This record gives sequence, structure tokens and C-alpha cells, in this order.
Amino acid sequence: MTPKIAIILGTRPEIIKMSPIVKAFQNRAIDFFILHTGQHYSYELDKKMFEDLGVPAPKYNLHIGGEPYRKQVGFMIRDVSNILKKDRPGAIIVQGDTTSVLTGALSANKLGIPVAHHEAGLRSHDLSMLEEENRIITDHISDYLFVPTKDALKNLIEEGIDEEKVFLTGNTIVDTVIQNVKIAETKATKFKELGLIPKGYILASVHRAENVDVKERLFCIIEGLEMTAKKIGISVVLPLHPRTSIRLKEFNIAIPSSIHCIDPVGFLDLLVLEKNAALIMTDSGGLQEEAFILNVPCVTLRDNTERPETIKYGANILAGTNPETIVQSARVMMEKNLNLTTHDNPFGDGRAGERIVDILLKSL
Ligand code: UDP
Repeated sequence: MTPKIAIILGTRPEIIKMSPIVKAFQNRAIDFFILHTGQHYSYELDKKMFEDLGVPAPKYNLHIGGEPYRKQVGFMIRDVSNILKKDRPGAIIVQGDTTSVLTGALSANKLGIPVAHHEAGLRSHDLSMLEEENRIITDHISDYLFVPTKDALKNLIEEGIDEEKVFLTGNTIVDTVIQNVKIAETKATKFKELGLIPKGYILASVHRAENVDVKERLFCIIEGLEMTAKKIGISVVLPLHPRTSIRLKEFNIAIPSSIHCIDPVGFLDLLVLEKNAALIMTDSGGLQEEAFILNVPCVTLRDNTERPETIKYGANILAGTNPETIVQSARVMMEKNLNLTTHDNPFGDGRAGERIVDILLKSL
């Protein structure tokens, strides 16, 4: 009999990318439970994602959100470990690079419970990013490493990780997009509500700590988006991450009228907003991938990316935070006649969730 598996997650992207794995567990009637750390806790970033993607409610929610980083790490390790001791699973699975991923993996590893990591092997090669530390540590204590791309596989081999533990599965984000794009067309309302027209606007997002926690960088990004809107003559729609809203207020940065800020939207609404955008400008990992999958050009508001495939295929460009460079990058990408449909998708074929569950079932 297959042992029970615990899915440990805590943030919006983890719910989104874990949803195909949940579906695959359900399809095979595998015994599993969801342990939510509560790292993200607002309705839009948390419950709305469960609703949109039909993911069952967590069995446990630790409600450890909003605490300073130091406390989050301590509380998560303590509380996740207590639950794993009580409701002992045969393995845990985590996805991505957040504090919930790191603490989930550390807690299970310490208790001798096998750890599976989806989206293993991603590297920005920038150790000042907390996410990079989380990725490296989690990969090196994992027993099953599910890598999304060949580049990610290469990173792990270079770091000396035993090849037998590494499986090239593709990224479940491709599954999530394929499984939801048609549903989104019928259920999403935001695109219409905002009075948008296809290819008539830029979709932007910014939330990474290294951008929004530094006043100068956040100011430059907002200025770059404003200049892009004015110089190119196109509106910019910006769903505001809670972290960004807080920082904008704290730093007293006003949002210019050329940028249309909205509350964070559900995944189905976001998919439709992405699909119809003329360009996506973002510092999000997920949006870089989704732009690629949906054949929408992308400008990344960072100095590096752990998604180098998007750049190699000419679908994405790194703009950093200099306003002039941001405008120039937007121009370059908007002039491109992107056609990614003629290539194999380096992020996968939409069957990553099934593949991951197959491998787990065979190995456990
Ligand atoms: N997303 C969403 N609503 C929004 C903004 C983003 O559903 O208003 C989704 C988006 O489609 C992507 C994920 O959230 O799948 C990205 O999350 P985030 O940018 O917070 O994290 P990252 O991908 O950088 O880890």
C-alpha cells in the first residue's frame, strides 16, 4: 500500500503549482493531506487560490503569516515538526523556494521522513536572495528532486547531487495553465470589468523583497512603468501584492494615474489578463513562465533570473530597475513578433503532475 503523503505549502504560487499534483493524487485515490503554514493569509492570495483551482482545504493551517522572518522560521519548524510527528506521512512534498518550503523540508528531514522537492535545481546565482538560499538548502536535503528543465538538471549535477535522485519532469505550471485556460475564459470577469481590449494594455507585477523593500528600487520601477505607459501610449494594469502596497505607503511613493492599480486577482482572472496582454512586465518567477507558456513577451524587472530558458528563446529580457532601460526593454519586446508555438516548451508538456506522482508511487 502506498504510504500517506503530506503536501506542505504556504504561499500563492505553491497552491497554484501544487494543484496538478493534488489532482494526480485524487485521480489515483492516494491518501494525502495538505499542511498549510499560513505564510500567505489574505483571501486573495490564499483562499481564493484554493477556490479557483478546486484544491481541497488544508487539513492543518498553522497561521504563521505576518511574523518577522526569524520568528516565521522558528515557529514553522516547531509546528510543522509537531504535526509530522503526530500524523506521520511516508513522505512530504514541497514546491518552490519559500520559507514554507525550507522549513517543511528541514522538519521532515530531521524526522527521517523522505522529502520530495518540485521545481528543484533553479538557480539565480544570486546568494543575496533569500529564495536562492532556500532552493540550495532544500535541494541538498531532498530525497526526490523533480526538475522542471534541462538547465535545472545541469545545475544540480554541477553541485554534485546524486543523479539517481533527480527526475526531469517538467514544471507543473504548464499543467496548471493548460487545465485552467478554458475554464478561465468562461469564469473570469476582471478583464471585462476593467474595460480592457486584447493586446491593448501591459500587465505588470512587482513583489520581490529585493525590489519592493528598497525605496530607491521601488521608486525606479514605478517610474519605469509610468514612462513606459506614457512613451508607448498604452495603459499599465498592476495587481498590487500586499507587500508592495505596504511598502508604497511606507515610502510615500504615489502611484501615477497612467498605472491602473487593482487588488490581487484570482488565478483564473490573472490567466485571462496575462493571455490578452500586449506585454508582461514583472519580477515574478511564475509570471515569467506563464508569459512564455501563453506566448506573451515579457520584461523582467530584475538583474537576473532563475528562468534562463525564457531569455534563450527570446521571450524575455532582463531590464533591472533603471527607468530608461525599462522603457527601452518594453519597446524591444513589444516590437517582437513572438511565436513560441513552433518550439517544444522547455517548461514541459503539461503532464508534470502525473509524472511526479508516478515516480513517487514507484519509489515509496
Ligand atoms: N497571480 C495571481 N493573481 C495575481 C498575481 C499573481 O493569481 O494577482 C499568480 C500568477 O499567475 C502566478 C503566481 O501568482 O502563477 C505568481 O506568484 P508570485 O508572483 O507571488 O510568486 P513567484 O512566482 O514570484 O514565486
